[in-house]
This record gives sequence, C-alpha cells and structure tokens, in this order.
Amino acid sequence: MGHAVGTLKALHETDPEVFTAIRAEEKRQREKLVFIASENYASSAVLAAQGCLMTNKYAEGYPRRRYYGGCQHVDTVEELAIERAKQIFGCEHVNVQPHSGSQANMAAYLSVLKAGDTILGMDLAHGGHLTHGSRVNFSGILFQAFFYGVDRTTETIDYDAVQRKAEECRPRMLVVGASAYSRVLDFPRFQHIAQSVGAYLLVDIAHIAGLVATGLHPSPIPYADFVTTTTHKTLRGPRAGMVMCKAEHAKAVDKIIFPGLQGGPLMHVIAAKAVALKEALSPAFRMYQEQVIANARTLAAGLDELGYRIVSGGTDTHLFLVNLTSKGITGKEAQAALDAAGIIINKNAIPYDEKPPAVASGIRMGTPIVSTRGLGQSDMTQVVSLIDRVLQRPQEERVHRQVRKEVKALCARFPIFHTYQHAQV
Ligand SMILES: *Cc1c(COP(=O)(O)O)cnc(C)c1O
Repeated sequence: MGHAVGTLKALHETDPEVFTAIRAEEKRQREKLVFIASENYASSAVLAAQGCLMTNKYAEGYPRRRYYGGCQHVDTVEELAIERAKQIFGCEHVNVQPHSGSQANMAAYLSVLKAGDTILGMDLAHGGHLTHGSRVNFSGILFQAFFYGVDRTTETIDYDAVQRKAEECRPRMLVVGASAYSRVLDFPRFQHIAQSVGAYLLVDIAHIAGLVATGLHPSPIPYADFVTTTTHKTLRGPRAGMVMCKAEHAKAVDKIIFPGLQGGPLMHVIAAKAVALKEALSPAFRMYQEQVIANARTLAAGLDELGYRIVSGGTDTHLFLVNLTSKGITGKEAQAALDAAGIIINKNAIPYDEKPPAVASGIRMGTPIVSTRGLGQSDMTQVVSLIDRVLQRPQEERVHRQVRKEVKALCARFPIFHTYQHAQV
C-alpha cells in the first residue's frame, strides 16, 4: 500500500471536512492578531516532526530499555531531546515523555506523594494553575490542597504570607508557578520556605520556560526538587510537557511516567520536542525572547498611559493582566468586542476579583505569538491604539469593522505559514 507520507493532498482526498477545517484554522491564525499568553506558532520544522510517521511506533520504556523491537531511530530522537533539555536547563535528570503540562505535574506529585498528602500552591484566582490543587482538578481531588496568593495592594506574591501559610498547613510539596503572574518569581525564597517546613519544592515553568531557557528569567533548577514545563508556550515547541528533577528523584519520576501514568510515548511529539529544543539553543531564540519581553513591556506601558490599570503595575515577563474595572467594561465584554475586531485575547480574573470567572474583571495579554510573527515595539504602539478604539466603544460594529481591516493589514505585513501549503514529510 505504497502511499506518499503525510501530505495535505492525501488528507484532502481522504477527508475533505477535516482538511477544510484545518485550512480555515490556518487562515484564522494568519489573519488574526493573537495575544493569548499561552499560545505560539511552532516552526515548520517542529510541525514537520510532530506530523511525522514516528506516530506509528510503539516504544514503551526508555531509550535502549524498550519493551518493543525496532526502536533504534525513536531512541535517537528521545536521546537528542534529553541531551538538549539538559544542555539548556542544566538539570540533572529530565523525562521528555509527558503528554502535556498537566501530566508532567501529575508525575512530579506522584513520584514522591501519596493520595491524601498536603500540597500548597498558588491560588488559581490569583494566577495559579488548575493542576496546583484546584478542587475540580486531579490535584485537588487527590491531595489536600492549600493556597497562597498575592498581596491586595502590591498584587505581587507576599512571601512572608507564603511562609506563614506553609507553617500552618505543613505541606509535603510546595508548588510554585503560574499562568497569569507577570513578575519574577523568587526561587531562593521559595526554597527557603519549602526547606523550613520539610516540603519538596515543585516549580512549574510552563509559561516562562522560554525565558528561563535563555536566562531572561532566573532558573529554578538549582533550587527545586522538580521543575515541570510545557513545551508549547514560550518554548515554542509541540503541545507536550517535560519533568526535570534532581538525580535522586530520577528513578521515581521515570517509573511514575511509565508504567505509572502513561502508556507508549508519543514519539513523533518527542521528535518535535528535540527539534524545538535545538531551536531554543540558537542565538536567534534568545533574541526572540528578548523581543517578547520588550513587546510585553511596550504594550503594557502604552495601555497604562491610556488609563488602563495593569495588575501589579507592569510586567517582567511575556504577559500581563489588565484590570478593566475603571473602564466600566468586563473581561467577557472586552474579549467579545476584541474578537469581533480580529484581536484575540482571553478574559481573566484579576486578584480579589468580585466577578465570577466566566465574566471576570480583566483580560490577560501575552506577546509570544505576535513576536514569533515578527511584530516589534512600534507595532505594539499601534496595537495599543487599536485595542483602545475597540474598548472605548465595545458595542459598535462600525469600529469592529474598521479595526478588523487594520488588523488584517498589519497581519499581512507579517506573513506566517507562507510555506505551509507545501508541508510534507
Ligand atoms: C499551561 C499550564 C499547564 C498545563 O499545560 P497543559 O499542557 O495544558 O496540560 C500547567 N501549569 C501551568 C502553570 C500552565 O500555565
């Protein structure tokens, strides 16, 4: 059954409905200005690897210790991914098999904790993540979860309060990391807190991995027992996760990922992780991360000048939250109006939000994806004015139409996926 490998032409012939949806998604990604802080455009090389025929291979186990024959080539890509992750992050051990950031966290927890143990994580309502103990998540179902948050005035983490909370609840694991926090995290301080109560320290760098990889955010590796990450956010790789840890936890981590939690690893995705990690080692990647931060700062400062309140007053990273309360508009309304104008953001609860999360008083904005496209600081200044025009008159369709046109023109100046239609492996 000789067939060409992985062509879009084959997809079109077999399944025009899926093909058409993919094409429509391509057009959407091409023509919209995206400020979702957790999204990025993976490179052609990453997409090629992620769409490759290594999906056909079963490889339960680890390189050179597999349960199946024929693993020589998938061993090569997994070893490359491991080697490169170690080179980038300087970790003692890494497991590149987690299917996602959530699975990476599950593995870190279950490598040393038992059901019913206590964990202390950052409150979801203050910028934390579901997997840090939320009641609706496995982490809150399995463990007794307590939370710390940000100070009401500074809107930054109150480390003294974290220390007090840790002394109160005596967690087995202190969990650090966030999905909506724009300030540098003080890892030495968190290590001190964890050690003072005999807790393991887990740092989840899902959002800031690209910044950590390039030294633009301090690394938690020297301080934490476990460091987990996604590979698809600022790291700009395939949709997946990794667990890094101290050598003493290596065996436990590997064992809980397989056979504990997962079956066969997604070798095509691991191949794509290796590619993304190679890209992350290049000087261009560091320049990209610098641009991400510069763009976020310019965007936040521009909005601030127009009277938008930036949570914590600014950003050190790739993202920030805007508190829209003083503008008389909810996060939900802002998201809908900007969406109609071709600007994609997400509504987001702000710390101490009085509105339910489905409405929210704020929005979250991040610059990884527009920076991949090539937009720079002067473009951010234009974006500030586009956003302001929409949020001044969120209901006016004429404004949506006009801004949509300008967004499309801006996007056309920064083409993306111009080779995608020829993509094949
Ligand atoms: C995105 C994120 C995750 C989860 O990643 P998934 O791949 O969506 O499971 C975990 N932790 C943090 C802090 C995140 O931002």
